[in-house]
Amino acid sequence: PTALRPTASEVLSRVFGFDSFRGEQEAIVDQVVAGGDAVVLMPTGGGKSLCYQVPSIVREGTGVVISPLIALMQDQVDALLAVGVSAAFLNSTQSAEERDRVERAYLAGELDLLYVAPERLGSESTKRFLANGRIALFAIDEAHCVSQWGHDFRPDYLSLGDLAERWPDVPRIALTATATDATHREITDRLHLSKARHFVASFDRPNIQYRIVPKNEPRKQLVDFIRKEGAGQAGIVYALSRNTVEKTAAHLQANGITALPYHAGLDASLRQRTQSRFLREDGIVIVATIAFGMGIDKPDVRFVAHIDLPKSVEGYYQETGRAGRDGEASVAWLAYGLQDVVQLRRMIDESPGDLAHRRRMAAHLDAMLALCETVECRRRNLLSYFGQPSEPCGNCDTCLDPPAVWDGTIPAQKLLST
Ligand code: ADP
Ligand code: MG
Ligand code: ZN
Repeated sequence: PTALRPTASEVLSRVFGFDSFRGEQEAIVDQVVAGGDAVVLMPTGGGKSLCYQVPSIVREGTGVVISPLIALMQDQVDALLAVGVSAAFLNSTQSAEERDRVERAYLAGELDLLYVAPERLGSESTKRFLANGRIALFAIDEAHCVSQWGHDFRPDYLSLGDLAERWPDVPRIALTATATDATHREITDRLHLSKARHFVASFDRPNIQYRIVPKNEPRKQLVDFIRKEGAGQAGIVYALSRNTVEKTAAHLQANGITALPYHAGLDASLRQRTQSRFLREDGIVIVATIAFGMGIDKPDVRFVAHIDLPKSVEGYYQETGRAGRDGEASVAWLAYGLQDVVQLRRMIDESPGDLAHRRRMAAHLDAMLALCETVECRRRNLLSYFGQPSEPCGNCDTCLDPPAVWDGTIPAQKLLST
């Protein structure tokens, strides 16, 4: 009965225990509660989940959430159940009985939120099943996964455009922490969100200090950095290959740092254990490939270190964004050397795919190099890449310790005088 439905601010305080919405959350929630579509670009930690969780509870029916990672679904559903929200998921890890139970709950209208893996929504049987219940909204989380040129492409996301035709009256909200114009446009086009309102938050993370150092002895540099600034703190170290991950984790352990390796080559149950130790214990350092971290909500990660050059500014921004979600001072530290550039260029040259694709990857790498090489404010460079102009920040290495500008005349004179 409509009269008994709670308002958005009642749900916010009574269910989630928060006093007020943050930033654009309220406007986004209002848009979706009213039945409109929304595209939300908001940095990691900005609070995207509430933007669809609150409307799912306020509106009649079930909010269907498309989320790319099975581990994430479990975490989100657990968190919702803990505050008394009726939530469940459908994915390939479930037994037939579990799936049955979830499906019956959905059809009976008992669920506020149902998390679904993207590959399920591609199938006609899932769509027919959903059509037999009442859908409050579709939320497409990590919507940049629809971008073929991006760094997290998932083919299953491409079929999500059909939801608009099949359910023209159900509001859809797409959310991502990737902010480039190109990704924004692709999300809007491919997910058929031409009538959506767009909400673009500031991508600045003022509490993160950006630092990029020349790489010479990366493992030693990393140990020094952690000892000096991250001792006993939770942190994430990103490396490009599984091999480097293993070796670096071992090196940190040998130096008395509680470090655990994480990459896609490790057994799923071990990865799950590593992830939950990181979330629950203090002061764990995870050494990982980029397989680690999407959607992980650990507020007190004090540093993110890269010992290999990321392939794109988007990736770098997302990975560093996992630091300091609690708003406290944190450091993003990157060691960068020419060898990385050579290696990444070779990977691009040898990568499968057409010329246009390789050109895109090369452009991504060039933007990353520009960030590493700039003598001006790192943050300003980063934000301008996302189309957001800003002033020098005063909280990055180049602001705090301006590099001596290269004076070509001195070596030239030396050269001439010998
Ligand atoms: P995102 O998906 O954008 O990375 P989350 O939705 O995971 O971010 O939210 C990040 C953190 O911020 C969570 O711990 C969440 O509980 C908290 N949060 C979100 N909105 C609010 C709010 N209005 N008031 C207080 N805390 C909030
Ligand atoms: Mg999220
Ligand atoms: Zn700066």
